[in-house]
Amino acid sequence: MTVVFERHGDVALALVDRPPVNAIDPSVRAGLLDAAQRAAADPAILALVIACRGRTFCSGADLEELNSGVQSPGYVETLAALEDCPKPVIASLHGTALGGGLEIAMACHYRCATPGARMGMPEITLGILPGAGGTQRLPRLIGPAAALEMLVQGAPIDAARARELQLIDEVVGEDPVAEGLAFAGRLLAAGAKPRPTRELTARLRPLGEPEIQATFERHARSLKGRSTQHLIVKSIRAATEKPWGEGLRLEAKLSADSLLSPESRALRHVFFAERECARVPGIEPAARPWEIRRAVVVGAGTMGTGIAMALSDAGIETTLVDREAAALERGQRMIADNYAASVQRGRITTEAMQVLLQRIRGSVELDAARDADLVIEAVFEDMQLKRTLLQRLDALMPEDALLASNTSSLSLTTLAQATQHPGRVIGLHFFSPANIMRLLEIVRGGATSNQSISRALTVAKKLRKIGVVVGDGFGFVGNRMMLDGYFREADLMLLQGVAPARIDAAMEAFGFAMGPNRVNDMAGIDVGTRVRSELLKREQRPATYHVVSDSLTALGRLGQKAGRGIYRYEPGNRAALEDPEFADFVRELAARHGVAPRQVSDEEIQRRCVLSLVNIGADILAERLAYRASDIDVVWTSGYGFPRWRGGPMHYADTLGLDRVVSQIRALGEAGNGEHWRPAASLEALAREGKSFADWDRELAR
Ligand code: NAD
Repeated sequence: MTVVFERHGDVALALVDRPPVNAIDPSVRAGLLDAAQRAAADPAILALVIACRGRTFCSGADLEELNSGVQSPGYVETLAALEDCPKPVIASLHGTALGGGLEIAMACHYRCATPGARMGMPEITLGILPGAGGTQRLPRLIGPAAALEMLVQGAPIDAARARELQLIDEVVGEDPVAEGLAFAGRLLAAGAKPRPTRELTARLRPLGEPEIQATFERHARSLKGRSTQHLIVKSIRAATEKPWGEGLRLEAKLSADSLLSPESRALRHVFFAERECARVPGIEPAARPWEIRRAVVVGAGTMGTGIAMALSDAGIETTLVDREAAALERGQRMIADNYAASVQRGRITTEAMQVLLQRIRGSVELDAARDADLVIEAVFEDMQLKRTLLQRLDALMPEDALLASNTSSLSLTTLAQATQHPGRVIGLHFFSPANIMRLLEIVRGGATSNQSISRALTVAKKLRKIGVVVGDGFGFVGNRMMLDGYFREADLMLLQGVAPARIDAAMEAFGFAMGPNRVNDMAGIDVGTRVRSELLKREQRPATYHVVSDSLTALGRLGQKAGRGIYRYEPGNRAALEDPEFADFVRELAARHGVAPRQVSDEEIQRRCVLSLVNIGADILAERLAYRASDIDVVWTSGYGFPRWRGGPMHYADTLGLDRVVSQIRALGEAGNGEHWRPAASLEALAREGKSFADWDRELAR
């Protein structure tokens, strides 16, 4: 039984029990509907309490069901039965009441919550408009402006704030069942009657345009390129202006439309893709849990310090090692400053900071590796240096520990060969800042064992990162696509005389937070040059390959830090300004390489940057360097700023249609943009068969 019906004196209890998070499926709805009907029919029952077993109230709708179509009984019907019940219906919340879960609670007549409970409407993150009355009931309970904020923000609020807003009636003790029953008792004693939310019209007032704009402004970053917020406004307006039934019908229609929108399809694609990448074909979850008690990070530079913080944040005792005492000290200071800034921003308490800091010990010796479960090296990008270090670490570490390298350009297979146990050597490619960025490329070397991969996935999970297993090729997945695709094209367009600001504006309009030239200047143009120089030792590229960037590096025009790069910068100001000297420099460089200036439209800028990603992505799939097209989408949406609402490059290509992608790639080649504009064989084959990358993934999964 998903919903247990119990009698506690004159109060009935409907206890939802659908582990792990009480996601709402047809059986949950049927159980609630039945409970409402029984409570209504039985004269001995005076009130009905709805609570959940386990760690949380209903955490939301079962998304698989949303994908395949909602079964009977539907949400609206079930919630109407609760609201229409002639006896007081009380929701007792704990854990997280999200989306459909909160909609159930709002259809009840009264609500109480444990102090730690959180409530939210996260549907916008999936491009969905709530469809179970949420946009109609929420404004009735907390007013339209607060409702708009909650629906647009998507993140949950805590019990205290919910009480303030009158979303709930009481904050109670810890036990949702006992507290819910007690609250029902108090209500009955006070003579409380059913209080249908749809009848609460006192707080309804028109939603003003300035309020709407202010809300959009506050969330400008997450709303960029999005459209769900406009549906939310429409639906709330219906709540404030139209009768209940009409509002509910409009919400249902808008909600159904939202599910079919490209935006929602893309967002749900990424949501499922992120879950999927933890499932690696051929790799079973470890039979025996692997505990990471102690970790060692070698190299206290930019990456090492970030990784150490990520480990400490996850509760892992960490030793940060650098051979230079001064570098170690600098690294430790960076960590302390970083945590202090978090305290200042109110993200953590001073006490929490002390704990986090104490968890990271510093050392100039490698001794701590002797009893580490996990060692991650993040020293200079130098093959010989890393090989020597890995060999020493391998000799020190317990046989059963995992040895990882954070290299971004060296061959993991070659690195691992320096050790006695290449099976336990793996790449953990973190992204900067490593304590913040969610992506972790897990690089499988030629000899890396399945156990090591499974353990690396455990590391990702523990650090709350999205681990994507990739093969040991040129730049792995993300950097290869960036260097051979997106940024290569941006560089080439500069050489063809396109103004940097036009390229950036076009890509920002596509949905990237920052265009490639501004990113290049911000990261330091020399960084890319250095990575490429390592990679180019492994593979050849034509003379025009990133020639603008590499020539800038040679001139010391390294970007923001030098006051000059692709753009110029005033001292103390990060605003990227056009530099006439840059245009002259590019003209000369182009002449030297025999590259003629070209007129490139904004659409072509986007097409070249994005289709180059798709084309290389197709090669990567064919080379089995990524397991799934959806894994590539995860890499690009979580690590490289590809707009999530476009679903990642491969999903985006599917929405265009692969035959169109192929013909556009051919056309770009014919227009004289270089030899590399040839459709990948795997892409051509899919297009020929009328298939998509999603089909590729489906066939693999079989
Ligand atoms: P960094 O120059 O900031 O720091 C490297 C640190 O390693 C220095 O403090 C140095 O003293 C120390 N070191 C060098 N040799 C050592 C040894 N034998 N034993 C102990 N300590 C030693 O470098 P970084 O930017 O943090 O990069 C580190 C690694 O991470 C490189 O492999 C790099 O390719 C990779 N990586 C960097 C980025 C990035 O954005 N910076 C992103 C992903 C991966």
